[in-house]
Amino acid sequence: MSTQTTDWCRICTLPTVAKPRRGGKFAVHCARCGEYQVDELPARCFEWTREQTANASGYLREHSAYRLLSTAEAEFLQNLRTPAVGDKAEKLLRAMARFYPVAGQEIVLPSFLSIDLAQLASRADRPTAKHRGLELESLEKKFRWLSWAWAQSEEELLYLVFDYLRDASGHVAGERLRGTPDEHTAAVIKITPAGWHALQTGRAQSTFIAVATAPKLRMEAVWSEVIVPAIEEAGYRPTRAEGQDEKGMGDAAIARIRRCCLLVVDVTWARETAYYEAGLANGLGLPVIWTVRDHQAQETQGDIGQYGPLVWSEQDLPAFHDALRDRIEATIGRGNRHRRS
Ligand SMILES: [Zn+2]
Repeated sequence: MSTQTTDWCRICTLPTVAKPRRGGKFAVHCARCGEYQVDELPARCFEWTREQTANASGYLREHSAYRLLSTAEAEFLQNLRTPAVGDKAEKLLRAMARFYPVAGQEIVLPSFLSIDLAQLASRADRPTAKHRGLELESLEKKFRWLSWAWAQSEEELLYLVFDYLRDASGHVAGERLRGTPDEHTAAVIKITPAGWHALQTGRAQSTFIAVATAPKLRMEAVWSEVIVPAIEEAGYRPTRAEGQDEKGMGDAAIARIRRCCLLVVDVTWARETAYYEAGLANGLGLPVIWTVRDHQAQETQGDIGQYGPLVWSEQDLPAFHDALRDRIEATIGRGNRHRRS
């Protein structure tokens, strides 16, 4: 079923579908940024640079539950660090492997030629009428490539695919199609054996998910009965992020976070180090999933509310299990590690 776009993204200006939610909130699905939530739809687009837009868009695509609230959160997105070129290429390769997981599979790199980018990205304040009738699905098939790579433009995306991943590192193979009648296809590419190998050995394909929780007995039960099974069901291996010593974060904990592909932080009975660990993961470009018990949800709202934390209840741990597994899969895709039986 196709979804007609009716609105435009205040961050990247591309067409979106914005659905009203309770309490005046909106769930926005953007062709480039993916899904995010806002408390209100600002009347105008943010006047950000192309670099800031690319970073915010890439971040939102990686953190699909991100709740964009108000000025503070917008400022956070606006000031994100631009990933190094190698990191962008790795993000792109990782996304390709996630969406096209079969070895040898041909991957169609879309062409943006058929879309009037200048018109879509124009800073017009009310481009709604122009967008009406565009289908979100077909636009997203193209524009998610930009946010996968945190790329500013089609030129940068093509550079990452051909100059970096193909010519320099040999991680993909394929030729650009030039002057072909097919306006939807820029190239047909494949991930090479070297690319798969890089994914396997690099952090990109780490199967570890690190978890930071408070050292409380009650948390131990949640860890063993909920968190570990949920992570394993999503196809990953859980590891503790927190340091073993009382002083807080040790080198071992930092090393564990560096090796993992996602961090789950539970801030129930939170320690300061949990926030430090989340900051470290963020700096490393790792996605972070926040969780909190319902009793503490209110008091942590100011710190983590904008990240759309999973709120869990001791009365319904199976629901937490399912929600955590689903959030992991929505954030980094299903892992390929089989669960212990
Ligand atoms: Zn957007």
